[in-house]
Amino acid sequence: MLGLMQNWPLTVDRILDHAKAWHGDREVVTRSVEGPIVRTTWAQIHERAKRLSNALKGMGIRQGDRVATLAWNTGRHIEAWYGIMGIGAVCHTLNPRLFAEQLCYIINHAEDRIIFTDLTFVPLLAENRSKLPTVMHVVVMTDREGMKGVNLPGALCFEDLVEQNSPDCHWGGFDENTAAGLCYTSGTTGNPKGVLYSHRSNFLHTIITMQRDVMDLGATETVLPVVPMFHANAWGLALSCPAAGAKMVMPGQKLDGASIHELIEMEGVTFSAAVPTVWQMLLTHLRETKGQLTTLKRVVIGGSAVPEAIVRGFRDEYGVDVTHAWGMTELSPLGTIAAPNAAIAAMDAEAQLKSKLKQGRPPLGIEMKLTDDAGARQPHDGTTFGRLKVKGPFVVGEYFKGEGGEVLDEDGFFDTGDVATIDEHGFMQITDRAKDVIKSGGEWISSIEIENIAMGHPKAANAAVIGAAHPKWDERPVLLVKLREGETGTKEEFLAFLEGKIAKWWTPDDVVFVDDIPLGATGKIDKKLIRERMKDYVLP
Ligand code: ADP
Repeated sequence: MLGLMQNWPLTVDRILDHAKAWHGDREVVTRSVEGPIVRTTWAQIHERAKRLSNALKGMGIRQGDRVATLAWNTGRHIEAWYGIMGIGAVCHTLNPRLFAEQLCYIINHAEDRIIFTDLTFVPLLAENRSKLPTVMHVVVMTDREGMKGVNLPGALCFEDLVEQNSPDCHWGGFDENTAAGLCYTSGTTGNPKGVLYSHRSNFLHTIITMQRDVMDLGATETVLPVVPMFHANAWGLALSCPAAGAKMVMPGQKLDGASIHELIEMEGVTFSAAVPTVWQMLLTHLRETKGQLTTLKRVVIGGSAVPEAIVRGFRDEYGVDVTHAWGMTELSPLGTIAAPNAAIAAMDAEAQLKSKLKQGRPPLGIEMKLTDDAGARQPHDGTTFGRLKVKGPFVVGEYFKGEGGEVLDEDGFFDTGDVATIDEHGFMQITDRAKDVIKSGGEWISSIEIENIAMGHPKAANAAVIGAAHPKWDERPVLLVKLREGETGTKEEFLAFLEGKIAKWWTPDDVVFVDDIPLGATGKIDKKLIRERMKDYVLP
């Protein structure tokens, strides 16, 4: 027997309809790419997004067509998202930090018809325009004044499209399983692969991430997503903030410590989300300038493991609570969050910190298991490493156009490619990417754990651990350290710093001081490049 409740498809246009109806005056503030601060509201964003929908329809865009954005976090970018998704077209977010060659591959693979871009990326597109045969139009997200500097034949002006089209446009009315968004993973192995979100998966992810034990979003919050909309959908914030009626503060292209701090204080930001490197930059800036955080209460950190020094710095010096989260493009992206359960909440602050440094537990909607290489479940004892696999309504089922073939195991779980432990509280801890794990004498060593401790050394600016070939143990860990400016360091002092904090047999066989620890397009340490650079290295 079926239930007798209304059939109300879970399509994301309803999120912006809701924001307009009940939080229409709530602001969206942007540090525009052109420079000035621009203020708008959810009601205005709704109207302008509808005008864009009409513009897209006028250009021949139909349901299922891919329309890309190559843009910073701005109010206009939100308008483009909803304008595209509202009519059933697919919003394809492009990561401008990728190499041009990869970007062209992704645009061609997705067969993007239109690209919305910021002024910043016009030269990049101009240079590669002839390599993008499926792209009919490039829309530059600026006004007529901004267009004066645009050197790209045929480029359209965003504000012209908004002005010239009517706000009278019907959104939705299609199946909730219709594709809404497309995002390619950065493809550390093989070509990048597209994750094709549906309206339903985005809607469910939105509701789940608003929950108290996830991002705890409400109408009184002022939210600054530093995490870009092109990096796993800004962790869903451009959907969950209007859903909650929160105010949004969009940082544009200025993501340095000083600019972020200025926005936080100027707009009264209460909650923010970003990768660890951004928070490290903010902490450094605050310490150098003796700055304060008078309104910020909580930050969510994910994308890479959060170093202890960051959690302590925010907590002890600025009274800001750090919540650690883990996710990936394939999960929309949220997988786990380290919100305390009752047992952890009852511990003292120092004991709680141990759990805070783990990636945490899954919210409703994510099933999770650990297995060995043969697929057998591993115990949740906090020490046994296993492959982390997940299942749920906002987890990828297959990649766009079937790339990579079958990606689920026989029970429907997706292999995340991460290696992890799960403890008795159900708190998951990532120990490595499967391909970065160091195997020494048949046992696994967590490079991430060693890196995080090493990064807490006062002289370290950044640290990375890789495996180096060893005649007896197969592989042994080597610690690479980038020192802070003006510092000098020795192997002995770094090894002494690690002593007692990790198992003795995890102690790196060598410490190498380097000028640079390269980061990839989503801000993670680029181990592939490091291994390439170290290919001639031999252990002492
Ligand atoms: P990409 O793979 O395109 O760089 P993703 O953001 O999808 O971008 O990357 C997901 C991966 O990032 C995860 O599989 C995991 O290895 C890593 N990751 C994400 N969050 C964390 C975290 N909190 N701690 C450790 N690793 C993380």
